[in-house]
Amino acid sequence: MAFHSGFIAILGRPNAGKSTLVNKLVGRKVAIVSPRPQTTRNRIQGMLNRENGQVVLIDTPGIHRATTALNRQMMQEVSQAVEGVDIVSLIVDATEDFQAADRHSVEWVKRFSGPTYLLLNKVDRTRKDRLLPLIDRWRGENDFEEIFPISALTGEGTLDLVESWIARLPEHPAYFPEDQYTDQPERFLAAEIVREKAILLTREELPHAVAVLVDDFEEGEKLLKIRATIYVEREGQKGILIGRGGSMMKEIGTAARKELEELLGVKIFLELFVKVQANWRGNRAMVKQLDWHRQLEQMSEE
Ligand code: GDP
Ligand code: MG
Repeated sequence: MAFHSGFIAILGRPNAGKSTLVNKLVGRKVAIVSPRPQTTRNRIQGMLNRENGQVVLIDTPGIHRATTALNRQMMQEVSQAVEGVDIVSLIVDATEDFQAADRHSVEWVKRFSGPTYLLLNKVDRTRKDRLLPLIDRWRGENDFEEIFPISALTGEGTLDLVESWIARLPEHPAYFPEDQYTDQPERFLAAEIVREKAILLTREELPHAVAVLVDDFEEGEKLLKIRATIYVEREGQKGILIGRGGSMMKEIGTAARKELEELLGVKIFLELFVKVQANWRGNRAMVKQLDWHRQLEQMSEE
């Protein structure tokens, strides 16, 4: 049997369900998910293995207009994700009509010369009679090779999608060993899980202002010790994160530790700190520090 493998970039507006889809298909969490837009900041690969192929999915930050250094870095990630991939898949929220902001996504897709897919996501909450008109609308915008209605949440429609992807990927041996499910090192996954819990447990404008850096990641025989700092932009936000008598920090820490223990299969000691770094999203040095691809390059150079 021919074996196919290759790279597929998952693009789309914030909140379309890119990270949910990648996690669902990989079968475990590689990217954090939240109901707030712009949760994903870096491109992350997630691998899925079938008898007849290996698909390397690339989750990306949502396509949006870049205003801060952080946003520019995020769009840079999208651009790097598309480089050299075999297929680009645009995922859209099928519960919503085509909007002006979708034009921007279409432009990204049009720039790609290979096959493009349209994934109409969230069909678990979409009225079936909406789908055909929506498909027509999107067809008018771009000549997609394939269109799949799916639910990233329930997995509906995704078996056919994966088969179709594999059929279109070139004949090529697997790029990664079967037990490797992501390119994101555990140290950075840990930071992401802490950030996800901070986003999920706090409110309002806080999510965008939160960044997490792991200061220490020490693997002992029986215990993994992680020390991380949560950065926010203002004193008020720090107050919200800490909560009354430290209650919020405790909640974030416990939730993150439990999930990380489950994901990594080890006992974890997690210590969290909070720091204010005014306007870090506009600070290029700080944004660089958050770019784990760049951090990895620097570590290997040292
Ligand atoms: P991203 O910004 O494109 O990565 O979107 P996320 O994967 O973070 O998802 C954004 C929100 O949409 C989350 O609250 C998800 O639970 C939700 N979501 C994603 N896919 C589906 C789906 O197929 N059905 C439903 N009902 N919700 C979904
Ligand atoms: Mg995401």
